[in-house]
Amino acid sequence: MAKPKQKKAKTKLKAKTASTRAKTAVRKTAVKVKKAVKAKKAAKARKPVAKKSVTKKLVAKKAAASKAPAPIKGKLVYSFGDGKAEGRADMRELLGGKGANLAEMSNLGLPVPPGFTITTEVCTAYYDNGKKYPPALKGQVEAALATVEKLVGAKFGDSTMPLLVSVRSGARASMPGMMDTVLNLGLNDVTVEALARQSGNERFAWDSYRRFIQMYSDVVLGVGHEHFEEILEMHKEERGFNLDTDLKAEDWKEIVAAYKKMVEKELGKPFPQDVHDQLWGAIGAVFQSWMNQRAITYRALNNIPASWGTAVNVQAMVFGNMGDTSCTGVAFTRDPATGEKNYYGEYLINAQGEDVVAGIRTPQQLTKAARLKAGNDLPSMEESMPETFKQLVNVFQKLEKHYRDMQDIEFTVQQGKLWMLQTRSGKRTAKAAIKIAVDMVKEKLISQAEAVDRIDPASLDQLLHPTPDPKAPRKVIAKGLAASPGAASGKVVFQADEAEQMASKGEAVILCRVETSPEDIHGMHAAKGILTARGGTTSHAAVVARGMGRPCVSGAGGIRIDYAANKMTAGDITVNKGDVITIDGSTGEVILGLMPMIEPQLSGDFGLLMSWADKLRKLKVRTNAETPADAETAVRFGCEGIGLCRTEHMFFDADRITAVREMILSDNVEGRRKALAKILPMQRNDFVQLFKIMAGRPVTIRLLDPPLHEFLPKTDADFEAVAKGTGLSVAALKERKKALEETNPMLGHRGCRLGITYPEIYEMQARAIFEAAVEVTQGGGKPVEPEVMIPLVATKAEIDFMKKRVDAVAQAVFKEKGKKVKYLVGTMIELPRAALRAAEIAETAEFFSFGTNDLTQTTLGISRDDSALFMEDYLKAGIFDRDPFVSIDQAGVGELVKIAAERGRSSRKDLKLGICGEHGGDPSSVRFCHKAGLDYVSCSPYRVPIARLAAAQAAISEEKASEA
Ligand code: ADP
Ligand code: MG
Ligand code: MG
Repeated sequence: MAKPKQKKAKTKLKAKTASTRAKTAVRKTAVKVKKAVKAKKAAKARKPVAKKSVTKKLVAKKAAASKAPAPIKGKLVYSFGDGKAEGRADMRELLGGKGANLAEMSNLGLPVPPGFTITTEVCTAYYDNGKKYPPALKGQVEAALATVEKLVGAKFGDSTMPLLVSVRSGARASMPGMMDTVLNLGLNDVTVEALARQSGNERFAWDSYRRFIQMYSDVVLGVGHEHFEEILEMHKEERGFNLDTDLKAEDWKEIVAAYKKMVEKELGKPFPQDVHDQLWGAIGAVFQSWMNQRAITYRALNNIPASWGTAVNVQAMVFGNMGDTSCTGVAFTRDPATGEKNYYGEYLINAQGEDVVAGIRTPQQLTKAARLKAGNDLPSMEESMPETFKQLVNVFQKLEKHYRDMQDIEFTVQQGKLWMLQTRSGKRTAKAAIKIAVDMVKEKLISQAEAVDRIDPASLDQLLHPTPDPKAPRKVIAKGLAASPGAASGKVVFQADEAEQMASKGEAVILCRVETSPEDIHGMHAAKGILTARGGTTSHAAVVARGMGRPCVSGAGGIRIDYAANKMTAGDITVNKGDVITIDGSTGEVILGLMPMIEPQLSGDFGLLMSWADKLRKLKVRTNAETPADAETAVRFGCEGIGLCRTEHMFFDADRITAVREMILSDNVEGRRKALAKILPMQRNDFVQLFKIMAGRPVTIRLLDPPLHEFLPKTDADFEAVAKGTGLSVAALKERKKALEETNPMLGHRGCRLGITYPEIYEMQARAIFEAAVEVTQGGGKPVEPEVMIPLVATKAEIDFMKKRVDAVAQAVFKEKGKKVKYLVGTMIELPRAALRAAEIAETAEFFSFGTNDLTQTTLGISRDDSALFMEDYLKAGIFDRDPFVSIDQAGVGELVKIAAERGRSSRKDLKLGICGEHGGDPSSVRFCHKAGLDYVSCSPYRVPIARLAAAQAAISEEKASEA
C-alpha cells in the first residue's frame, strides 16, 4: 500500500483504477447493507410483539448470525480487501479470530489492506501429515497473492513497484504465546532500492529493510535479537548517536550490511533474498509456532485444545513509519479497566506496529481528555491528527454497533490515511465487563440475558476480594499505571520461575519485572500481582494481567530493578527479594509492606446484573458456612440459605475443645453425657446466631462427621486439662487415644458410624438444633426450618437408625418448650452405595445433599489428601481435563449423581436435592447441577455470586438449546 510520492504515469493509473474499484465496492456493500437492514426490520415487524422470555431475542439474533455456509471443500485460502471478503466473522474456527475479523471489516467497507488467510485446517493437516502442506496450497496462495498484487498495484519481488506484506499468526482464540508478526516481508537488496525510489524516502526504505532482517531472522531463522541490538548499539556508539531517529539512510545501509554478514555467519548461509522463500519461511514458522513451548503453556492455562490449529494471515503492508503524518496505534472503544464509555488507546507517530507493544518508545494518548488526565505534554492523536482521528472515531462507532461489543482495535495511519489492521472483542476486567454489559443493555444494543451470558462467572472473583483499607496508613513508594484492578500483597520476586516455585509452596508473591514477555506467563499466573517498571496500559504485562484477573501496576517509572542484585529501589528505599509489598492495581500505587483490606460490596451495576441473573436462573444458591462472619458475608452476596453447616468446626474453639476431648476420651456413656452437657449450650448458641442471621432461610446442619482422633489432645498440657475434667489419669487417657487410632481414618470410624456407636453425641447435637430453632422462632424471628443432615450413609438401615433418634429428640424438645417447628431429616450422598440404593434411602431421608468431595474420592478411589502427588501428571498426560476435585467428573461421579437423583425421586417425589462439595462454586459443575435437575448448589460465601451467575447462564443455554 505504499503510496509513492513520485509516481510514474503507469503506476498512477493503476492506483487510480484500484481506488475507483474500491469506491464502487464500498458503494455496493453499502447498498447490500442497507438491503439487509431493511430485510431485518421487515422480519422484526412480522415477529409477534409479546416475547415469552428475554433469552428468546438473544437466541434469534445468534441463530441468524450463525447460518454459516459449510466450508467449501478444498478451499484452503480466503481473500479479503477492497470492500469484500470470502470469509466472515462467524468463520473464526476456520480463519482464526484475526482472519475472520479482517474479512468482516472488509465486508463492512472499512479500509483494510488487502490480504488472505490460510485456514486452520491447513495447520491441522500439516501436523497430521508429518509436517507437509496439502498439495493444493501452493497454487491457492499464488492466486490469492496475485489478487493482492492487483488490488495494491504492486508486485511481490518486483524491482520497480514491490509489494510488501506482513505475515501474522491467528488462532481461534487470541494467543499471546504464538509467533510474532513479521512485517515488511518482500524486501531484499533489489526491492529496497525500489521502495526508496518509489517513496522518495531512502531512510524509510532502509529502516524498513533493517527491521525486516531483524524480525525475520529472530522469528523465522532463530537468530536472537540481541545480536542485532549489539550491532546497532555499536554503530550508534561509534558515531556518537543517541536515538534511532538520529540515524540517516547511510547509517541504516551500513547496519543492513552488518546484519546480513552476521546472519550469514550465524547460519552458515545468507539471508534469503528470494521473496517467495521468505514468504514460505514465514508461513512455516507460524505453523511451527503452534507447537512451541510458549503456545503449549498458554493453551494448557486456558483450556485451548491443540487440535484447533492456527491460521496464517498474509496482508499488504501499510506504513506508519512514513514520516510525521503517519502513525500506528491500538485502541479500545471503551475503557477496558473501568468500562467507562471513553475511547481509550495509544499511538506512536512515525512508527511501525511492533514499536507500540515493545515499549521501546512511550506512546502518546489517543484523546485529549486522556492526555490531560495523565498530565502528558505530548499531543494526543485527537489534537495532532484531528481529521484522521474523526475517521477513527467513525470506525469505532461502526464496529461497536456491528459487533455489539467493546472492540480492541489495531490501526495504522499512512500519510494521513487510516488503515484497519485488527479488531476483536476486547479483553476487560470483570468490573469493566459488568459496566459495559449493563450500559449496552441501557443503550439497547443487547438484552439482559445477553448481558448475563457475557460475564465469565469465574472472573467475578476479581470483584469479590478485599481492597486495601482506605483509612489505613499506606507507605506509597512509587506510582505507576492502574493497569489491572484489585490489590495484592506478597513477597517480591524478580523471576517468573522463582514466582512459580515460591507460589507452589503456598507463598503469596508479587512478580516484579522491568517489563514482561510471553516467557513470563507461568510466573504471572503463579503470582498474586504483577508490577512492571516500564510499559503502558496496553503493554504485555497489562493485557495479560487483565486477562488472568491479576492485579497489575505497570510503568512504575520511579522503580529501578536490579535483577543481578535481586533488589529494586524507589528513591532511597530498597526492596529486596522476599520483602513484602502491596500493589493496588486500581490506583497504580506500590505500597511497602502488608495492607489491611476491606470487604467488597455487591452494589451498583454488579447488583443490577446479579438481579437479572436471579430472574433467569432456576437453581437456588446456598452457602457453606458455620461462623456468623461467613454467614453474614454470604447473605450480603445473595445466598438463599445454608447448604452445609459443619458442626465439627464449632468444636475446635479453645474454650470448648477440652470438653470435646473429655467426651471422646471417657470410656463410658455417663462420662460422655457429662461432657456433652457442657458442650450443649455452646452448640445451641452457635445455631441461634446462625438462624438469626439466616432470617428464615433454610439451614442444613450436618451432624458430626470427621474421625474423633482429629480432636484428640496432642501436648502434655492438653492431656492434663482433660485429666482434670474427667478424673482419669494421663496414662489412661494416652492409652485410650492409642485405641482410637486408625490406619485409614477417611474410610474409618466417622460420619454416621460415630452416631451409631455413640448415639448420645448426635442426640446432643439434635437437641441443640431444635432448642435453638424453637428459641429463635419464639423470640419473634422468622420461623426456622432446620434440615438435619446425617453424613456418610451407605445403607437405609443407617439412616433409619439415626432418624428415629433425631425425631425422638425433636418431639421431646417440642414438648418441653410447648412449641413445634418444621424440620427435615436427610442424608448426604457421598458413597457410591448410597447413590445406587437411593430409592430405598429416600423412603426415610427427606432430602439428599451430594457431598461431591467424598463422592469423588470414593468413586475414583483417589484420596483427596494425597492426589496432589500425581494430579499434575494426570492433567499433563491428558487423562483428566480438569482436576476432578475442582470440577465435577461429569461422566463418572456425575452419573452417580444422576442415578441417585432419579432413584431418590422415584420413591419420594418432593425429595429436595442439593450439592455441598467444593464443586458448588465451580461454574461448569453448576451447569451440570442445573442439567441434573438439582434444586440448589451450596458453595463458599465468596463464590455465591459466581454460582448465581453460572446458574443463570445454565438456564440461558438450556433455553437456547431447546429453541434451536
Ligand atoms: P499480534 O497478534 O501480536 O497483535 P499482529 O499480527 O496483530 O500481532 O501484528 C502486530 C502489529 O503489526 C499490528 O498491530 C500492526 O500494527 C502491525 N502490522 C501487522 N500487519 C501489518 C500490515 N499489513 N501493515 C502494517 N502494519 C502491520
Ligand atoms: Mg494484533
Ligand atoms: Mg464428606
